[in-house]
Amino acid sequence: MDTKTHPAAKTDEDWKRELSPEQYRILRQCGTEPAGSSPLNYEKRKGEYVCAGCGMPLYDSSAKYESGSGWPSFFKPKDSAVEIRSDKSHGMVRDEVLCASCGGHLGHVFPDGPRPTGLRYCMNGGALKFMPDEK
Ligand SMILES: [Zn+2]
Repeated sequence: MDTKTHPAAKTDEDWKRELSPEQYRILRQCGTEPAGSSPLNYEKRKGEYVCAGCGMPLYDSSAKYESGSGWPSFFKPKDSAVEIRSDKSHGMVRDEVLCASCGGHLGHVFPDGPRPTGLRYCMNGGALKFMPDEK
């Protein structure tokens, strides 16, 4: 991971202790969960998607859509919630999406999303937690 300071950054030991092995693999080691594996693919309720690492609100349910990719997809993050970094791993150039608060790896963003942004934030469900609206 990068060395930029994030407000909710923690030591690697703390992350290992606090996160599940799968969350740690995704958030801290830029892992990717298998397509179709996250229950959040089927989440349709209203609410907020927050970072599984630090609890930062990242996406509103109104920005979620069914992309058919097998990963939870959003066309827009909340303001200042994520950072984009160029990722040249696996022989591809992709835009990596990080939590702006803890620097955790969330997924990638692709320019094939729906209106109004035209972007597809392709997220690992294991990097997110869903908080349904209390109503
Ligand atoms: Zn975070």
